[in-house]
Amino acid sequence: MNHHAEAFAPPQEDRDEKRNLVGLTRDQLVAEMAGLGEKPFRAKQLWHWIYHRGVTDFAAMTTLSKDFRARLAETFAVRRPAVGEAQVSRDGTRKWLLRLADGNEVETVYIPEEDRGTLCVSSQVGCTLTCKFCHTGTQRLVRNLAPAEIVGQIMVARDDLGEWPAPAEGRQITNIVLMGMGEPLYNYDNVAAAIKIAMDPEGLSVSKRKITLSTSGVVPEMERCGRELDVNLAVSLHATSDDVRDRIMPINKKYPLKMLLDACRSYPGTHNARRITFEYVMLKGVNDSEEDARRLVKLLKGIPAKVNLIPFNPWPGSFFESSEPAVITRFADILSAAHISAPVRATRGDDILAACGQLKSASERRKKAERETTLPAQL
Ligand code: SAH
Ligand code: SF4
Repeated sequence: MNHHAEAFAPPQEDRDEKRNLVGLTRDQLVAEMAGLGEKPFRAKQLWHWIYHRGVTDFAAMTTLSKDFRARLAETFAVRRPAVGEAQVSRDGTRKWLLRLADGNEVETVYIPEEDRGTLCVSSQVGCTLTCKFCHTGTQRLVRNLAPAEIVGQIMVARDDLGEWPAPAEGRQITNIVLMGMGEPLYNYDNVAAAIKIAMDPEGLSVSKRKITLSTSGVVPEMERCGRELDVNLAVSLHATSDDVRDRIMPINKKYPLKMLLDACRSYPGTHNARRITFEYVMLKGVNDSEEDARRLVKLLKGIPAKVNLIPFNPWPGSFFESSEPAVITRFADILSAAHISAPVRATRGDDILAACGQLKSASERRKKAERETTLPAQL
């Protein structure tokens, strides 16, 4: 989506700042080293220090000559986004508020579970898509994140969890999901660059099988995502008729259900062992009837699918309610009877506003609170 990328491009780095090596592809790093008169082997060594060892200070990169380290430090830096605030939920979920170089903020969430640890990464500041149930969609300011700002989220989490170098077995961060703020397929190029860096076996080394990209249904970008990145796909479905989906997810007017499900049917690399996850937020009286469940079964015919049922997570000012537990169970049973796996996703980290759909930068929340407290009394 080039028009999106252009309209919401990340700002160029400050000219006074040293160039950040984080976020460059391997080829770009080789080119930068060639500019210093160095062989491609130097780029390989640097890559190891930056992405395997997590080192940010050139002086500590002891396999490089002292002279080379000094020359690197003159021109370059290895930078992360600054951590504005780090919160830990009573259930162990962590949330980092990251402050970007231009003052914008995004959030990253870590969800530890018994058998895995999932890092939920943002792809944009805010989101242009205004889904009615989503807090991020109410944030007015939107821009794409640069590759360094996306990869930087993983690096900040590894810093905090003390996971450098990451072991092959028994890692704390095992999975990465692009399910934070923003629509990743509206920032395809930067997200793709970041995912390729994350997958590099000599660096962050996260397997493509452990990476899931979630989209609200940007149909024209889905095939390319599967072909070029081959990551797991999650699709935010949330309704079983165009009528309801149009109302709660405006993108449906552009790419309606049939188009979306056809794109799922042909998503490269999908088979029974690697299903597409359909996310379905349970909204009381909106999309949670037994008829909806039966319609969902029909819609998913022919797609290797599983469904994640997500109880609606409220946020300040939201006007939906979550379906009752019994209604969710009934919905899940109808799917299960049709041999569709339909786990109910546990709500995690809601005491720190870290659950699905609750992310919105704290500064935006503060601004909104200020507006509300200055409203005239008669309102
Ligand atoms: N923009 C992408 C990535 C965000 S993923 C997408 O929409 O798929 C975040 C997931 O949480 C999406 O499935 C989203 O629909 C869901 N979600 C949004 N608001 C929510 C809420 N209030 N409660 C529960 N889930 C919500
Ligand atoms: Fe954007 Fe996804 Fe939220 Fe919709 S659900 S507003 S696409 S982040």
